[in-house]
Parts: sequence; C-alpha cells; structure tokens
Amino acid sequence: MTRLTQPILQVASHSTLVHNHTSSLPADNFVSDQQPYQHRARKRFGQNFLRDEHIINRIVHAIVPGPNQTLIEIGPGQGALTEPLLDAAGRLTAIEIDRDLAAQLRSRYADKPGFHLIEGDVLDVVFASLAQGQAALRIVGNLPYNISTPLLFRLLQHKELIHDMVFMLQLEVVQRLAAGPGSDDYGRLSVMMQYHCEVDMLFKVPPHAFVPQPKVDSAIVRLTPHRPSPWPAVDAQALATVVKAAFGQRRKTLRNTLKAVFSADKMAQLPVDLGLRAENLGVDDYVRLAALVEPDGAVA
Ligand code: SAM
Repeated sequence: MTRLTQPILQVASHSTLVHNHTSSLPADNFVSDQQPYQHRARKRFGQNFLRDEHIINRIVHAIVPGPNQTLIEIGPGQGALTEPLLDAAGRLTAIEIDRDLAAQLRSRYADKPGFHLIEGDVLDVVFASLAQGQAALRIVGNLPYNISTPLLFRLLQHKELIHDMVFMLQLEVVQRLAAGPGSDDYGRLSVMMQYHCEVDMLFKVPPHAFVPQPKVDSAIVRLTPHRPSPWPAVDAQALATVVKAAFGQRRKTLRNTLKAVFSADKMAQLPVDLGLRAENLGVDDYVRLAALVEPDGAVA
C-alpha cells in the first residue's frame, strides 16, 4: 500500500487537518460489531455505512471495475465498496477525510500494493495530479450527502479528466439530476449536469441498507461526460447565469426572469418564447441563450 499525501492536496484547508471528534452520533448509532473495531459514525462527515451485501454487489456490478482503470473512490469509510473494487481492479485510490477510518484502511490494506490512500478533504484534491499518465478517471463512491452538490460542480470542472462517475446520492438529488423539462424536479442542477454529462439513474437504495440508517431514500446514478458534446460549446459561467436567472423565480415567465441577464431592447431577439417558464426550456434552449450572453450581460 502506498500512501499519497500532500502533493495531491491543495494547501491544507480547515477540514483537511483538523479533526474534532466531539460531535458524533449517540451511542445507539454505533456500527455493528461485525467490524473488528467500533467506529462511532460521524454525522458531520455524512457517515452512513453500507451493510447490505446484495446492494453492495449491485453497485460493484454497475461500476464494472477492471484492470487498467484509474479508479478513485470518494469516502471509502469502512471499505464496503473498496474491498470488492480493489479485488476486481487491482488498483484503487481512496480519499477519506476521517483520520480514524483512514488509519484503519491503511492497516487493513497494508499488503495491497494497488491501494493508495489520500487522507483529506476531497474538495481539496487536485484531480489533475491523479490523472497524470493514467487512464481517464473513473470516480465512484457512496457520497457524503452534505457535500454532494459542491462536489459534483467541482468534478464537472475537471470533466476532461473523467471517463465516468458512479455515485450513491440522496434519491431526491438523483431525481433532480435526471429530470427533464416539464417536471417539478427539473431545475438548475438538471440543466447544468445534463449540459456536461449523460445522466443515468440506475436504482434506488432504501435506508435499511445502511448503518446508521439515513432518514431519506438513496439512489445510484451514473454520470458520463459527453464525448463529443451534443451541444455547442458555451461559456459555463454564461450558462450558469442564464439558468440561475430563469429558475431563480421559476413560476414567473422568461419575460420577467431573463431581463436580469439581457438588456430590455434585446429581449425580443432571444430565440425562445418569452411567455414560457424556466421549466419549459430544454438544455439546448439554455445553451442557445448562453451563447448570446456578453460579458457585460448584453445580447451579442
Ligand atoms: N463508502 C462507505 C460505505 O459505503 O459504507 C462510506 C460511505 S459514507 C456515506 C461517506 C464517507 O465519506 C465516510 O467515510 C466519510 O468519512 C467520508 N467523507 C465525508 N466527507 C468527506 C470529505 N469531504 N472528503 C473525503 N471523504 C469524506
């Protein structure tokens, strides 16, 4: 086992090195004694450990791990997915913020030369350094739900390094990622993610698959960066600006919401029906609108 440390992480942030072990879940949330040690699940790290073998097998099957892949697991925890992934792929880099779990993983896989551990906050990881000279990254994990949205947006910034991502997320988030126009779940997250990736919701996972049990249902999603993209390239910031304005007040018409982005005298030139609302436009419409955003917010 090799331990990768600082060069892979950005300058240590708040949570990379600081470990305060006081805010844990109550004692009745101790993980089961199937483990050779007892670990108190830490709520602030979103710790819900997978315990259901059938679900674990389904997830590993969905990932299809294999040799010569560059597998990155975010939040290995107690290794529920790590072990079968490592067995199948022979090589895996895991990123874990909890220093106790990191220590346990390090000793457990000490005899596995293909296991690499980054102890720190995934939000500080320099993904480009993981990809150097390797196959495109395959990033997987039962994600800590409290950081899932910022993490997804961060990963999208590196989509050229990524082959695909298979994640467990809150069901509600997966439904938003996968939603199409006309649906209540369709919003900023849907448009931004679908601009960058193909989104496939694979299956649901009930709370009783975990210890401790989360209060919400979960689901597995596969995100595959488009290659080639079905959309013309646009500035991601311009796209974000248009989408944010449109969905900021999703019950209002585009005539009302888009005037925050486009000057009044140019609104009539926009290639969409301004009587519609944000949820009526497809990703292609948003891309066409984004292409018309000038740095100063005016129509090109
Ligand atoms: N993969 C394990 C499983 O399925 O049983 C654990 C999943 S648990 C939902 C999330 C894991 O992510 C925990 O091990 C937690 O300590 C870790 N984690 C939480 N925040 C993190 C962060 N910012 N960076 C890296 N790991 C993090």
